[in-house]
Amino acid sequence: MEPLVRIRELEKDRVNFVLENVHLGFANSLRRVVMADIPTVAIHQVYMEINSSVLPDEFFVHRLGLVPLISTNCDEAIRSTQDCSCDGSCVYCSIELLIHVKCIESETMEITSNHLERIDLPVTGDEGAVGEAGEELSKRGERFGWPVGKGELGVPPVLLGKLRKGQEIKVRCIAQKGIAKDHAKWSPCSAASFEYDPYNKLRHTSYWFEKDIEAEWPISKNGEEEERPREDEVFDFHAQPTKFYFNVETDGSLGPQEVIIKGLAELQKKLANVIIGLKQGGDGSDPMADGTTQGYNAPAAGGGGWGGGAAGGADGAGGWGGAAAAGAASTWGGATAAGGGWGNTSPAASGGGWGTSPAQGGTWGSTSPAQTGAGWGGGAAATGWGSPNAQSNGWNV
Ligand SMILES: [Zn+2]
Repeated sequence: MEPLVRIRELEKDRVNFVLENVHLGFANSLRRVVMADIPTVAIHQVYMEINSSVLPDEFFVHRLGLVPLISTNCDEAIRSTQDCSCDGSCVYCSIELLIHVKCIESETMEITSNHLERIDLPVTGDEGAVGEAGEELSKRGERFGWPVGKGELGVPPVLLGKLRKGQEIKVRCIAQKGIAKDHAKWSPCSAASFEYDPYNKLRHTSYWFEKDIEAEWPISKNGEEEERPREDEVFDFHAQPTKFYFNVETDGSLGPQEVIIKGLAELQKKLANVIIGLKQGGDGSDPMADGTTQGYNAPAAGGGGWGGGAAGGADGAGGWGGAAAAGAASTWGGATAAGGGWGNTSPAASGGGWGTSPAQGGTWGSTSPAQTGAGWGGGAAATGWGSPNAQSNGWNV
């Protein structure tokens, strides 16, 4: 059975969808990857120039780091500091923000994320001060690096501190790219979870209760999606969960569409790396290079399995073949090639994020709303899934 996706609810910063016919491990991998492996920008270096407020510098700095910043197309729009040839921060790997506020009224003044002003760094400078020129700047949206919600009506800003008359704060902040595995401030998700088996038919959990299990553990609304177990139903030892009820909520730095699509691309990249590692062998050399048939290449002869084989390598037409090779005619398609199975990693770049599925015939495509133009397709779709800044009004919903 092919995987199915059905979107139940969609808002500018959250999505609720049902994923069917995948393994529990896959659903969990997707959940983990969207929480911890998708890059965003967040304030990472802070220069406190003036702080006469009652808050210690460290308090303030910590709060600044947690302010969500618009990170649309972060993959291409900003470079990791580690990959940049500059001396620490430059226009290609950093966003500079400044807060300078002084209270001159007798009323208490609130410092909020709306006071953060993005300062455009110089594109040229002394040698070493600016990294090697790249295409990052042309891939950035107009509001890239702005605090989420700044300048938008009805979106309350993040409160950072308070000032009384005469107090002043002046802070220079450098925001950089990172992932939540390094620090939670880089997570694009404020929540990412799924439920499965609402009736607990599989007995993956045991409920503690005082008197009445049904009253104390009411069935969630996902129970409506599944058949209620019969009184006399026999426990099935071989049953596996197949339906997962996802709820993903973002902090606004990325839209829900970008989070899910990038999450899948990230999973694909991780798998491709495993495949490359297996093909090369543990020591980095290719154990197949001398033409021997030992090792893991057994299923390759029929064109299936792990691809390659004694003579094969990346050009094999086998199942796993050439995961990262652009032109390989493998089932997975070129992981990085635009024409490959999963389509472009960036939803905005192609007509539809999910595109056709690796299996010919478009399993994701046919079941997802992309075909009706309503959902997963294109970042610019009128109904949502886009990320902040994808449209002139900032949101895509
Ligand atoms: Zn740099």
